[in-house]
Amino acid sequence: MSKVRTRYAPSPTGFFHIGGARTALFNYLFAKHNNGDFIVRIEDTDIKRNVVGGIESQFFNLKWLGIKPDESCENPKEFGPYIQSQKLQRYRDLAYKLLSEGKAYRCFCTQDELMQNRINAANKGMTPKYNRHCLFLSKDEIQKKIDDKIPYTIRLKISDNTTISWNDMFRGKIIVPTDCLTDPVILKSNGIAMYNFAVVVDDYDMKITHIIRGEEHISNTPYQIAIRDALGFNDDKVEYGHISLIIGKDGKKLSKRDQTLHQFIQNYRDLGFFPHAVTNFLALLGWSPKTNVEILSMEQLIKDFDVERVSKSPCFFDFDRMKWMSNQYISKMADMDYLSFIKKFINIDLSKFKNQVDEILLLYKKQISYAKEINDLIHNTFFTYNPQEICRKMISEQWQKVAQNFISLINQTKEIDLGNTKKIFSQMKKITKASGKDLFMPIRLLVTGVEHGPELLKIIPILGREEIQDRISKYISFLNKSK
Ligand code: GLU
Ligand code: ZN
Repeated sequence: MSKVRTRYAPSPTGFFHIGGARTALFNYLFAKHNNGDFIVRIEDTDIKRNVVGGIESQFFNLKWLGIKPDESCENPKEFGPYIQSQKLQRYRDLAYKLLSEGKAYRCFCTQDELMQNRINAANKGMTPKYNRHCLFLSKDEIQKKIDDKIPYTIRLKISDNTTISWNDMFRGKIIVPTDCLTDPVILKSNGIAMYNFAVVVDDYDMKITHIIRGEEHISNTPYQIAIRDALGFNDDKVEYGHISLIIGKDGKKLSKRDQTLHQFIQNYRDLGFFPHAVTNFLALLGWSPKTNVEILSMEQLIKDFDVERVSKSPCFFDFDRMKWMSNQYISKMADMDYLSFIKKFINIDLSKFKNQVDEILLLYKKQISYAKEINDLIHNTFFTYNPQEICRKMISEQWQKVAQNFISLINQTKEIDLGNTKKIFSQMKKITKASGKDLFMPIRLLVTGVEHGPELLKIIPILGREEIQDRISKYISFLNKSK
């Protein structure tokens, strides 16, 4: 059997999108699982729709996800060029070859005529397809139009009354009657290949063996098979697999052109998601491992990725799950790695606690889903204090008593380090007889102003005596005022 070769073929018409990333990953995992090659090529023939930075965005984010192409325009091998705009002559030559073999024909129809055809067909309740007007032009008519320099496209002649079928890797057999197909344009009048044509030529030139792509391409596949047939490329076998749509919470397809936050890999990178958590999450969008274990390294994903377990039903995109996944990775990082990762995302001024920066950052390691989240959390614990809120939350007399006791113990303690803080707590227990929530919550409220946050025993020494006393006096003066 020939070596497995898959490809990811983005058009640089937008930035690297969740759906594209999932397609790239499935192709990568399938290739690597089978000791094959993974190729990235750029389909940029629709020049009007290309965006500046589109290609760079693809490569940059692939790298971030840990998906390494074996071949691409960045690391070319002998199957290039890997950018379609550099192969225009190759497509042109092949289109004219089909023309000379009588498998394709020139279409001189104008846009207006084609539009009118479609309207006529629709009025008659027929599928709007090309009426083959130009298929029946005589040799002389054709020559005259060429001499008159009338622009033309080249169309492939689709065989009548037959079917085109393939055994989809994930969906089983799909059969399409050719009567449902129109004669597709393969070369535009400006000499640029149409998408379906360029894809077939590239897949052949690059010796692609498996084409894994989104379900939205199912309608292209019969055309691509017809083009492959016409070009005589069939001695090299190729398999098609169409993966299911990714659906948002609203049940609608995540669209490439939808600009919301969750669509772009770039946004996850900017927020400080753990890169492999995003990859791991994407792998589970339409594929499930044999066991219940869902946290899987790239090596494990490659080992386990199995076509049988790719689903054909739509998969839900759940942002909360993505956050959960990222937290699973971040919370298990080694402290040093965590610190160097997280520091790139800090945008809060920590100079007030300059000797305790690492300690502060480590407080949140188990809690955060993405790095940037830490800024607000730190702000809430270390940079806001609202006595009014605290009074509102200090619900019982018992809690107030605990708070009062804590205040006097703090006043008696010279140095508030971890050891002394622990001592204060055990003394508090004895004096107030409070424990659990009734012990910790009033102190947490008094010290931080909020009900939730990192470990109290660690926060107190970081805040230090001065800051805590400052906070306490704010609280007391509010209490006195409101009496
Ligand atoms: N360039 C196409 C796209 O961005 C992909 C083509 C293919 O996978 O066959 O949707
Ligand atoms: Zn025509």
